Amino acid sequence: MPDRTFLSWPFLEDRHRQLAERLEAWCQQNLPVDHHDVDAACRDLVAMLGRDGWLKPTALDPAKPGPLDVRTLCITRETLARHDGLADFAFAMQGLGTGAITLFGTPDQQRWLEKTRAGQAISAFALSEPRSGSDVANMEMTAVREGGDYLLSGEKTWISNGGIADLYVVFARTGEAPGAKGISAFVVPAETKGLSVAERLEVIAPHPLARLSFDNVRIPASALIGKPGDGFRVAMSVLDVFRSTVGAAALGFARRALDESIKRATERKLFGAPMAELQMVQGHLADMALDVDAAALLIYRAAWTKDMGAARVTREAAMAKLFATDKAQDVIDKAVQLHGGDGVRKGHIIESLYREIRALRIYEGASDVQKVVIARQVMGGA
Ligand SMILES: Cc1cc2nc3c(=O)[nH]c(=O)nc-3n(C[C@H](O)[C@H](O)[C@H](O)COP(=O)(O)OP(=O)(O)OC[C@H]3O[C@@H](n4cnc5c(N)ncnc54)[C@H](O)[C@@H]3O)c2cc1C
Repeated sequence: MPDRTFLSWPFLEDRHRQLAERLEAWCQQNLPVDHHDVDAACRDLVAMLGRDGWLKPTALDPAKPGPLDVRTLCITRETLARHDGLADFAFAMQGLGTGAITLFGTPDQQRWLEKTRAGQAISAFALSEPRSGSDVANMEMTAVREGGDYLLSGEKTWISNGGIADLYVVFARTGEAPGAKGISAFVVPAETKGLSVAERLEVIAPHPLARLSFDNVRIPASALIGKPGDGFRVAMSVLDVFRSTVGAAALGFARRALDESIKRATERKLFGAPMAELQMVQGHLADMALDVDAAALLIYRAAWTKDMGAARVTREAAMAKLFATDKAQDVIDKAVQLHGGDGVRKGHIIESLYREIRALRIYEGASDVQKVVIARQVMGGA
């Protein structure tokens, strides 16, 4: 039985506790899904999650505007990730992909949210490029104003949901100033002429991913999110909300690895006694439990701080993401060890967790970048 004591922590309210229980029951009935065809699985997951109302917290309700509840996002991600990494991915991308529209979109742009919250449209966040991943401000894709339109040209890569998304939030250089201050954000429907999938990318934990090509993609100026030159700020504001939720997904993976390891240690006999009686095994389990709890504390601290109205939670979110993703990797690696050969057997839950966790230490700001962010914050924004 997974540890549920964190639900009584003061960072959470009763509505979060109830959500966790209801979602746990839903996950037990509906997950995991078959991952054989990841595109089909993701489409199905978005539709299922939307149908049953779980996607509502991913974006603003245009009929009842209010801030996103980061604790709800974190609890949902951690719970889904514990059952099925692809379900977490499908949920998370509906939020990341539309975050800019929730935070800065016009009422007309926000009409997309009715569909994404209902699981009737799939969204994507297109920031990274072949020559600018961590170094976002160095992006090369251009958006040139022509009368009442913008013309987008260039490439985006590593775009989650690339190829299956209905809408892309795309960041491009509009040139108001060099570097970060000359980037703008746009809503681009997938069927827009000139936008195509240049390459589908395969990774160790399969997700829909693509390199996208923009060949003079013409979009109306009304597709601009926020003001010209605001794109970098828009992207960072979105990441400020969603970064701690990446930690929450990692926490879900780590909790599952710990639960499976406890089960294994109590059920499997070694040298005539349950494995759990070996003190070195107990040591591993203790380290794993400690990392899980410490990660959870950082994540729910960051989420609570944001929900209490902090304008930015740069330091808290960076700490939560860095610690939770790095420690989840350690926890899962220990789980592999405790599972012996089964831990590396294709199709075993521990083997899939070992593959799932790795990319979380790279995207939405690599671990090294989070350290730089934290150092700058503790040095007083120097
Ligand atoms: C599975 C997956 C899904 C993704 N989904 C999306 C998506 O939906 N949308 C999107 O826009 N992008 C997405 N990305 C891209 C992701 O954000 C980038 O891969 C990430 O920002 C790193 O960029 P890069 O791959 O170009 O590596 P680089 O920028 O070349 O960095 C390589 C390494 O250099 C080190 N490094 C970088 N900067 C510093 C620094 N300042 N100090 C010290 N070390 C540093 C880090 O170890 C880093 O991992 C995804 C990536 C993956 C793997």
